[in-house]
This record gives sequence, C-alpha cells and structure tokens, in this order.
Amino acid sequence: MVKVLCVLYDDPVDGYPTSYARDDIPSIERYPGGQTTPTPKAIDFTPGALLGSVSGELGLRMFLEGLGHTFVVTSDKDGPNSIFERELPGADIVISQPFWPAYLTAERIARAPNLKLAITAGIGSDHVDLQAAIEHGLTVTEVTYSNSISVSEHAVMLILSLVRNYIPSYGWVVAGGWNIADAVSRSYDLEGMTVGTVGAGRIGSAILRRLKPFDVKLHYTDRHRLPADVEAALGLTYHRDVESLVRVCDVVTINTPLHPETEHMFNDALIAKMKRGAYIVNTARGKICDRDAIGRALESGQLAGYAGDVWFPQPPPRDHPWRTMPHHGMTPHVSGTSLAAQARYAAGTREILECWFERRPIRDEYLIVDGGKLAGAGAHSYSAGNATAGSDEAARFRTQAPGG
Ligand code: NDP
Repeated sequence: MVKVLCVLYDDPVDGYPTSYARDDIPSIERYPGGQTTPTPKAIDFTPGALLGSVSGELGLRMFLEGLGHTFVVTSDKDGPNSIFERELPGADIVISQPFWPAYLTAERIARAPNLKLAITAGIGSDHVDLQAAIEHGLTVTEVTYSNSISVSEHAVMLILSLVRNYIPSYGWVVAGGWNIADAVSRSYDLEGMTVGTVGAGRIGSAILRRLKPFDVKLHYTDRHRLPADVEAALGLTYHRDVESLVRVCDVVTINTPLHPETEHMFNDALIAKMKRGAYIVNTARGKICDRDAIGRALESGQLAGYAGDVWFPQPPPRDHPWRTMPHHGMTPHVSGTSLAAQARYAAGTREILECWFERRPIRDEYLIVDGGKLAGAGAHSYSAGNATAGSDEAARFRTQAPGG
C-alpha cells in the first residue's frame, strides 16, 4: 500500500460550490491530431464539478482508498512548517497542479526516500527539479494535451483584450463612467498585425489556427519546423530564432515549456529588439520572462501591454511587481484549469495511477522523466536541468497581509 500526497489549490473563499452556472460540459473524445482524451477504467466524479481545489480532491479519494492506499490532500505547500513538507518524507507518489505547484526541489526530493512517481495534474513539470528527478530515478508524468486547447482559447482572448484595450474600458463602466476617449486612446484593431508564437507545439499551433480567420500575418519559431502543408495552410512564416521573430511582431505569444533553454528568454536585451509598442501574451510560464525587465518595458512604453496567467513563484508574493505594473492583464493561473480542463486532467491523473498500480505502461505522451532520463514527451520538448531555483519565495504569500 502506498501514500499519495496531493497538493491542490484552496477552495473558493465562500465555500465549495453546491451548484454550477451550467449543467454540463461538452464531451470530447479526441484532441486535434487524433490523440484520445484520458481513458481511465472509471471515474468517480461528475465532469464539470470543481475538482482542482482541496475539497474536489481530483475525484480520487474513493478510488485510492478503495485500493487501501493513504491519500493526503492539502493546499499548504510552502515553507519548512507546511503540511506538504511534513508529509513528504513518507510519500510514494506526489500529485501537484501547475496552478498551485508543490515545488519538488532537489532538497525536497532528497528528503523523500520512498518517492517514485510525480504526477502533474495538467501540463508543465518545471516545478520539479528534473535533473534531480533523473538522478533519483523518479518517474515524472503530466497529462499531455489535457488543457492545451483551454490555454489556446485564453491566449487568443488575452491578445484581443490587450490590443482592443478591453480591461480598462470595462473598468470605466464599473467605475460609473462613459469615458470613450480614455478607453479608445490605446485601442487598435488586430486585423493586419503580425502575430508570432515562440513555440508551435500543441498550444502554439492551436493559437495559430484560431487566429487565422482574423486576417493577421502569422509567424513562429520552434526547435522543430512544422510540416510544409501546415505552414502553407496557415500562411506561416518560420524564424530560425526568437530574435528574428520578435523584430517583426506586433504581438508575441509565448508557448514553450520552462526549461534551462527558455528561462528568462525575454530579458532586457530581447525586449529591446521588439517593435516599440509590441504586446506580449505569456500563458506558458512566468519565469520565461525576466520579471523586472517586463515592468521596465511597460513603464518606458517599449511594450504597450503584457498579459498572462503565469507567474514565478506561484502564488506570487502580494508585493510582486506584476500586480501593479501599468498596462497589464494578469490573472491568477487559471487558463488551464477551466472546469472542462479539470475533468480531463483528473481523468488523466487517474489513468496514470491505474497504469502505475497495475504495472501497465504509462502512455509515452504522458512521460517527462523515466528510467533515469528525459522520456516520451519530455525528451521532445524539455532539456534536462532545473528551473525551480527561487521557488521558496512562494512561502511569502501566506505570511504577508493582503495588500501588503
Ligand atoms: P508542447 O510540448 O506541445 O509544445 C511546446 C513547444 O515548445 C514544442 O513545440 C517545443 O519544441 C517548443 N520549444 C521548446 N523549447 C523551445 C525553445 N527553446 N525555443 C523554441 N521552441 C521551443 O506543449 P504545449 O503546447 O501543450 O504546452 C506548452 C507549455 O505551456 C507547457 O510546457 C506549459 O509550461 C504551458 N502550459 C500552461 C498552461 C496554463 O494553464 N497556463 C496549461 C498548459 C500548458 P519541440 O517539441 O519541437 O522540440
């Protein structure tokens, strides 16, 4: 019997929901490209329910306890006195979501001698020190594709919100105003603009497909070039490197994993190569951007706007500069955890656990690290190394007073 330690975000401030805005979510069996959505033998939750917060438990308690395993769920994940830190030494499996990541640093992995499996309920395993995972023989998995389309929809929304100046316009109405000139003095049409993605994997290419009808010029850079027929169908211009891409783009959307190659890619030097007044939309990982360089570029006008839902660390301290920098459209990390996405990644987590307990192979596309090396999807999209440095700052969120 094993101990499964699961870290989820807090329940809503006014309690776990007893009813929902809608009665169902669409049923999706395949992703673009043909990969099937998760195929666990059974699920014990209602698709469309809140599964990603502590009381939702990813719908796993009945399944795990039915097999005789111990299941510990907490949101208390940061700092030496956290429940996560206390429970980790006895844990065999850790489940965590990127939205509220339980950082598995090398130090924490060293303190967890039984730990064999780390599951990311979602996509993006940069909260695990992958180098340490490789060295300790851990298996690291994620539920590939589970929320890629969710994020692509969100990124398109953020691009339009920034370019059209939606958020300040909404703000005028809420404030009781009718300030048309204030609202439109930073409002443009997306039509005719040049939009580029850094990374054209599942999310990046879904954004490109969604933007095609907006009559924009579409550009991309990636480690691997897309097939010629895809480039032709979408009218894509390929760039061999990110510098070449950003020089021509009005809007840049970031869609790579965070790994040593992409950490702080958007620094002062790269932002200086962008067109004055460009926009950045980053729904990939906060640390791909240099936090202070983004603030400086918004203050100076080099960037006209920055939006996204990813920060470093998470939760960000209450005095994190991205909360107060000008012309931003930041939210908490929500794009990949819509109720529809939760149903898929909860089912995918269950599928991975079923495979693990029954000693059946885990789908190759879910593997990031296995057998002491990058594996499956991880071998394609990540580089070995560690991107968790500085994550201990997340503990400051709980100790700072709101607004402080
Ligand atoms: P994919 O693996 O399908 O795509 C990532 C792409 O980035 C791949 O095509 C990869 O190249 C490319 N890439 C990797 N390194 C570089 C680099 N140095 N320069 C240029 N391109 C690079 O993943 P997804 O599209 O599904 O997800 C991408 C990321 O988005 C995730 O890793 C995660 O961090 C983030 N994400 C955020 C979510 C949210 O809620 N905000 C939810 C889901 C994901 P190749 O494979 O060709 O080598």
